[in-house]
Amino acid sequence: MKPSFAPWRLEFILGEREKGCVFCTRHKRKKDRDDLILARGKYSFVIMNKYPYNNGHLMVIPYKHVASLTKLNGNEAKEIFGFLAKAEKVMTKALKPHGFNGGLNLGRAAGAGIDDHIHFHLIPRWVGDTNFWPVVSETKSMPQHLMTTYDILKKHWR
Ligand SMILES: [Zn+2]
Repeated sequence: MKPSFAPWRLEFILGEREKGCVFCTRHKRKKDRDDLILARGKYSFVIMNKYPYNNGHLMVIPYKHVASLTKLNGNEAKEIFGFLAKAEKVMTKALKPHGFNGGLNLGRAAGAGIDDHIHFHLIPRWVGDTNFWPVVSETKSMPQHLMTTYDILKKHWR
């Protein structure tokens, strides 16, 4: 994955970390809009990244707190893959990206910000976005972008 320059990520990198697992906390507290949770399944959920590499950056995450692919069973893997495909479809329709980066970072050395709860990224890309985003987006305006994008994607998810 080759992330674009995203200055608001500094807040994540330099900010204070929450106690416990952020992903477990998010799916348990049932504040889906506040937490940017787009969809829930039986085994996993879809959440937008609060510190995105790009507009629309989302993640598919199992409810189960595991750090390795080998800990996911067939049903869980199937649902996660289904959500990734649906996210691709929804974002293609709603945001009209020119492509996607996707995948996972297993372990801190591989770039995982949260390395003990596996999560799959899907990041829409537009030709020239690495130049475009720093110009139009400032750190403080990102929450606004996030809620707007959340509402657009939520509407298309149905
Ligand atoms: Zn967890």
